[in-house]
Amino acid sequence: MTLTAPITIVTPPLASAKQQLAEAAAYLELDRGLHEMLEKPRREMTVSIPLRRDDGSVTTFTGHRVQHNLSRGPAKGGIRFSSSVDLDEVRALAMWMTWKCALFDLPYGGAKGGVTIDPRFHSRPEIERVTRRYASELGEFIGPERDIPAPDIGTDEQTMAWIMDTVSTGRGITLPGAVTGKPLALGGSLGRPDATSRGVAVVALQALSSHGMLPHRPTAAVQGFGKVGAGAARMLAESGVRVVAVSDQYGAVCNYNGIDIRALEQHVAGTGTVVGFAHGDDIAGEALLAAEVDVLVPCAVEGVVHAGNAHTVRARIIVEGANGPTTPEADAILHDRGVLVVPDILANAGGVLVSYFEWAQAHQAYRWSASLIEERLRARMMEAWDIVWDEAQRRQRSLRETATAIAVQRVAEAHTLRGLYP
Ligand code: NAD
Repeated sequence: MTLTAPITIVTPPLASAKQQLAEAAAYLELDRGLHEMLEKPRREMTVSIPLRRDDGSVTTFTGHRVQHNLSRGPAKGGIRFSSSVDLDEVRALAMWMTWKCALFDLPYGGAKGGVTIDPRFHSRPEIERVTRRYASELGEFIGPERDIPAPDIGTDEQTMAWIMDTVSTGRGITLPGAVTGKPLALGGSLGRPDATSRGVAVVALQALSSHGMLPHRPTAAVQGFGKVGAGAARMLAESGVRVVAVSDQYGAVCNYNGIDIRALEQHVAGTGTVVGFAHGDDIAGEALLAAEVDVLVPCAVEGVVHAGNAHTVRARIIVEGANGPTTPEADAILHDRGVLVVPDILANAGGVLVSYFEWAQAHQAYRWSASLIEERLRARMMEAWDIVWDEAQRRQRSLRETATAIAVQRVAEAHTLRGLYP
């Protein structure tokens, strides 16, 4: 007889997002019609992107942009280039952006975009052509007062520069406010590249402090070593946290004496992966989630902590650098086990906060200093943390339930005040 491990069906992101909204709607006793409006994206666009390859052949990709909600302002959200992108994933990520912007009281609705493409298998000119065609297909859909993209998985400040140029050229004017996360030379903001990581670190330290762990050189494991994970690992290490395990999509590396994050960044710059780092042991990526650490910081993709592995998590705190890394079933298991989960819409909002600062700077045509940005980022992260933490303590609810309910209430209020057209 062969024994096989039970297969866990991981709840897809859109089902998770809808379930979280349904719980908030029930708690807030929202009218059914309003709940239904908040569940459905306001606008969606799916586009075909034919790419002339470097060898002259043509391959056609699919891209999406979903504007989930526009009640509180123009839509805001990242653009992802990944082979796992599909419309439902983009819908979920757009809904989470709506709640994140509302939780931080930013004058935005939520959006997300994505192209189903693995950028690792394409040259830079091919990625540029895909980006420009995607942006031009979205056409009037995006712009400073309509919908403002930013980087996400597989995209970066160069992608944003191409989008800005495509939108600007199409309209015959220069529109720096059309995207955020641009290069500094094009009106990007100081502090934007590190902003998400900085916010994650601020919140992680606060969570560790709430458990009295901060003075005892706490330990961390960070999943994902990209724009968010690498910065979060570095900033945690610089704040005295011993980062003992780090992973990427190829595997993980572990060193219980603490990983030298700068040295690991150099290794990744040379090899493209954390695997094979000389000052640590290679372990399986999944093993990182069960590492014996104080705080686990998932900074990769959705659904990585699920019903099948939540009971193996040994960290006492999870800080969600990624969007949607914990499924609702895992949330329930972790809650029963007393693990504190700091939800994505609170933990990783540093990026959209400084994106907002960048957009405000574009409107003012005035650059803010790095110190001002860092100070305001820290202040807004702490303010949101305090509001969510205090309310969660008062109501004896989880941080996710509390954060989502606050955000949904704000969006619902905006809907109600605006009324229905016609
Ligand atoms: P990125 O493309 O820069 O990095 C992603 C990293 O995750 C890479 O190291 C990749 O190898 C790794 N990865 C992918 N699949 C993995 C897996 N199954 N296991 C372990 N590692 C895996 O992307 P990013 O911008 O750092 O985004 C990471 C997450 O943070 C996403 O969920 C994104 O939506 C979220 N986020 C990003 C920002 C931002 O400003 N970039 C802001 C808020 C939230």
